[in-house]
Amino acid sequence: MGRRGNLPYMIGIDLSGKTALVMGVTNSYSLGWAIGEKLLQAGAKCIFSYQGERLKPALEKLLAPYEGTLTGQCDVTNEAELESLFAQIKAEFGSLDYIVHAVAYAPRASMEGRFVDTTQEDWNTALSVSAYSLVSVARHAEPLLNEGGSIVTLTYYASQKVVPKYNVMGIAKAALEASTRYLAYELGSKNVRVNAISAGPMRTVAAKSIPGFTSMLSKAAEMAALKRNATSEEVGKLGLFLLSDLSSGITGETTYVDAGYNIMGMSFE
Ligand code: NAD
Repeated sequence: MGRRGNLPYMIGIDLSGKTALVMGVTNSYSLGWAIGEKLLQAGAKCIFSYQGERLKPALEKLLAPYEGTLTGQCDVTNEAELESLFAQIKAEFGSLDYIVHAVAYAPRASMEGRFVDTTQEDWNTALSVSAYSLVSVARHAEPLLNEGGSIVTLTYYASQKVVPKYNVMGIAKAALEASTRYLAYELGSKNVRVNAISAGPMRTVAAKSIPGFTSMLSKAAEMAALKRNATSEEVGKLGLFLLSDLSSGITGETTYVDAGYNIMGMSFE
């Protein structure tokens, strides 16, 4: 911290000695990476989990500059892999301070057609991967989470308002935001916080599978108060804030980083 006379004038975030699990990094565009990289830069010891063997090489390449960073395989729908990931965390770290949950999936067909045609199978898949996984991750993590710990998940505005084609993923995000509040209540007595970041549209692998995503990007920028889209760097900064002690009084919230899109009711200028 810098000093001017006796007054501190700069706050740096130093997370050395802290441990973090980051779930859902495919490449450098992933929102999980936007937050995970900030954690690494702040000095936290991190483990990054990947969905399957296929994603491991790219993740390891991304992590190469950060010596000592761990990886572990975990498909969030696979109970045995969740158990082995948390056993690995216990063995390597002993305890855990932070979790970044940046995982979502809905079968493409469920986002191409009409919402009314959503099959039960696609509903279950989307809700299980994109919402229930936060609950099961929190349950597995609970015995390891330190007092002052913090969990962050990623959501989207289609949980609140209709965004055509987002379909069942909008329902999954609504369940995710409600789960954030229930988890925040239950883990609050242990001084563990749980928050959701509602990010504006950003070019990632998952986003590109949303039909019409490119026109969504330009419409969102036109409508937003800041007249642009938010960036993944801005998601990273909000993530770091919500995980660190700087946000110690905030839990159960959904915080928007969307360049002021969600505050607008209409735009005609
Ligand atoms: P991404 O494709 O980079 O990341 C999604 C991750 O989810 C991938 O790493 C994928 O492997 C993982 N995943 C999917 N199914 C899984 C499973 N069964 N087990 C474990 N991991 C699984 O895309 P992203 O946009 O960075 O997505 C991260 C989060 O951000 C998601 O929750 C997404 O809904 C949310 N989000 C994205 C945007 C956007 O416009 N990109 C906006 C708001 C919210």
